[in-house]
Parts: sequence; C-alpha cells; structure tokens
Amino acid sequence: MAGPGEVKIRVRNCSTCGTDVKIYKHGHHHIDPPRVMGHEIAGEVVESAAPGWSAGDRVQVIAAIPCGRCAECRRGRMTVCPNQESMGYHYDGGFAEYMVVPAKVLAVDGLNRIPAGVGFAEASVAEPLACVLNGQELARVGPGDDVVVMGSGPIGCLHVRLARARGAARVFLADINPDRLAVAAALVRPDAAIHAEVEEQVAKLTDGRGADVVITAAAAGAAQEQAIRMAARQGRISFFGGLPKDNPIISCDSNLVHYRELTIVGANGSSPAHNARALELIATGAVPVADLITERLPLPDVLAAIDTVARGAAIKVTIEP
Ligand SMILES: [Zn+2]
Ligand SMILES: [Zn+2]
Repeated sequence: MAGPGEVKIRVRNCSTCGTDVKIYKHGHHHIDPPRVMGHEIAGEVVESAAPGWSAGDRVQVIAAIPCGRCAECRRGRMTVCPNQESMGYHYDGGFAEYMVVPAKVLAVDGLNRIPAGVGFAEASVAEPLACVLNGQELARVGPGDDVVVMGSGPIGCLHVRLARARGAARVFLADINPDRLAVAAALVRPDAAIHAEVEEQVAKLTDGRGADVVITAAAAGAAQEQAIRMAARQGRISFFGGLPKDNPIISCDSNLVHYRELTIVGANGSSPAHNARALELIATGAVPVADLITERLPLPDVLAAIDTVARGAAIKVTIEP
C-alpha cells in the first residue's frame, strides 16, 4: 500500500553494481537487516497517493535522498547533504517485484518520468550515470580536455562516454586487468586502452604534458597516487571511487599540487537534478547505455548477479523482477 505522499511501483529493472557486492559481503553501517537491497531502480507506477502521479507512469527513482532542508541542500549542494538517506539502505530497494517510493523521495523531486523511447533497463542506469555526471561537473571535464579514466568497470565505461559527450579531445581508458579492459574498450572505444605502465603511456600520448583530467574509478590508493602524478598543469583529479575504509591513506607530493595548480575533487553520489539530466543524456543519445547492459537476470538470480559483478565478469548486470 502506498501511504500519503507515496507511490507504489512494479519494479521492471533494478541494476547491480559494486556497492551491492560490498553490502552483500560486509553489510553497511546504515543498513539494519532485514532490508531489500537495490538502488538503481526503474519501474511502473501501480498505485499513487501522491499528486501528479498515476498508475501506468514509467518512472526512475533516485538512490541518494537528500533532506532538502539543511544548509547544504538549500545552497543546491544536495550530494553532500549530511542527512542523506538511501534507497536499499534506509528504505527497501528495488530487488523486489513491488516497491514503495518513500514520500521523502517525491518531496525532493526524486521520481523522474522515463522519456519516451528509453527502456526500463536503460533508465535504471540513469542513477550511476548521474553519479558520473556529478563527478565530471566537479572535475570540470570540457572541450579540448585529454581525459584519463582509471578502471574499466561500468562506471569507467560511463565516464568515457560522458567525457566524449562533454567535448573531451581524447579519452584514455586504463585498467590493470587486460581482459576486462579489452571488453570495455571494445564497447566504448577509448582513444587508447592502457593496461600497464600507465604513467609512462599517458606521458607519451600527451607529449609529456599529462592529462587535463584524471578520474579514478577504482578503489585503489595506488591509482589515486598515479592520478596526481599524471595530471597536466592546472589539471583536475577526480577521486571518483572511494577507498576501502581500513586503508584510506595515500601519499601525495604536495608540491605537484602547488606548482602545477592541480585541483583534487571527490564525488559523493548524485542529486535528484543529476538523475533527471542523466535520463536526458540517455534519451538524446548523448550517452548511450543500452549496450553496456550485458546481462539480464530474473529476480531469483540476484545472488548470481552479485557474484558476476564481484568477479567483474560483465559490464552491467540488471535484474528484471
Ligand atoms: Zn550503484
Ligand atoms: Zn540536506
């Protein structure tokens, strides 16, 4: 039943990602089981107790829910809302046939209409793309930039595609796993795919300048350290992926940051507005995602899906309840 201000949806696609693997294996301090996981959600409204929504509406749901009222939210910085809650953490998520969209999601415009021509599976990828969009906005990826993306998982693939859509001159994709890199590179066609000696290769490709933007989409401190060393003068480094909680310290030559006027930025999820714009990027074809969805599994296979993600054996695995 949808309570006041809520809608109930029939989940049509809920995609999986590395976060699901982490939660499944280690739990999460914000999750008090039992809890239905799944935060990359698209479906169809079956019941509405919220104005403006009715049965049959095709919708995409945000994952991170800002409060909309704190100092950060009021200044438009919803990704760093200290009161942020999440679908699949504080509320039951999308690995289910039906799901209630909390009133808090609707209150911050976190339910988006899926544009005509965009399928449910593609729409479920709007959430990770929204996070990627936030990261590239903060790193100011733009026309003429040489961009290095470190990590060729689904997030790395989305970074390559979005950087192109934002007018980057060249995009290089790096991964220490050559097999995974080859699969990703065949799909997103970077200007170069680099599996070893990434610093030397980037130096060679840029005539020693370095990259204007380096994005780390890998949970490795070594990648972050390399990223700082590979950046060109006035380069931007995005620590897009977080590091393991028990090993978050890296070393950094502060003088590189000082003399080269580097900018190091983080990235923490996405805002409701990022989700809406991600859907548009998919709908206009600026960032295609359909071909990144390499596996579709029914709900009973969700653990198999999480295992596939853990092994890095697919790009994007989506559950179709
Ligand atoms: Zn995710
Ligand atoms: Zn807030």
